[in-house]
Amino acid sequence: MLAVSKTFEPAAVRQAHAAGQTAFGENYVQEGIEKIAALADMLPREAIEWHCIGPLQSNKTRVVATHFDWVQSVDRLKIAQRLSEQRPGGLAPLNICLQLNVDGGANKSGVAPAELPALADAVAALPGLRLRGLMSIPEPSPDFGAQKALFLRVRDAYEDLRARGHALDTLSMGMSDDLEAAVAAGATMVRVGRAVFGHRALKDAGAAGPTAAA
Ligand SMILES: *Cc1c(COP(=O)(O)O)cnc(C)c1O
Repeated sequence: MLAVSKTFEPAAVRQAHAAGQTAFGENYVQEGIEKIAALADMLPREAIEWHCIGPLQSNKTRVVATHFDWVQSVDRLKIAQRLSEQRPGGLAPLNICLQLNVDGGANKSGVAPAELPALADAVAALPGLRLRGLMSIPEPSPDFGAQKALFLRVRDAYEDLRARGHALDTLSMGMSDDLEAAVAAGATMVRVGRAVFGHRALKDAGAAGPTAAA
């Protein structure tokens, strides 16, 4: 499980870490960097794993490549190239998931299914990165069967890449409201915010839906 700590204070991360959680996700680069710095005083860097899961602009790639362990939201080669070039030499390659736009929402982040194989081949060849798998955020649906059907399409794309020779081990899908369907469809990582930390302030209402139960 990836505990999504966006909008929550460093103290909440420390509490979750004390309970045994070691992997945390942040959407907003600036907020994530500040939280990583705030916690660095208290926790050794290797005790905690930080995942960038939000949209990434070119001008933020350097700080992300420096401070995060994973980026799950890569959907363009240009961003991947910058992350690879900017990953500091002393660190292990940055772990990457490609974000798949599985249901084709026009203004959604993520690579289109038809463009996924070429992007995966190109990203896998970059020396500063290690391609680990796919991440997806399908359209929310109240229906378990509909949720699972979309997650199965992500799983199919993942298995296709493996069949093409990519050594992937991470299928990141499912959030607080649909994680059961994602697990049923083969998720290896669920990204859970509200079901761990409780309600977020309205700041994030657009991303997650203000009325969903925590
Ligand atoms: C906010 C967020 C989550 C967690 O959502 P919850 O509904 O709080 O569980 C997971 N993944 C991404 C990409 C997010 O932005």
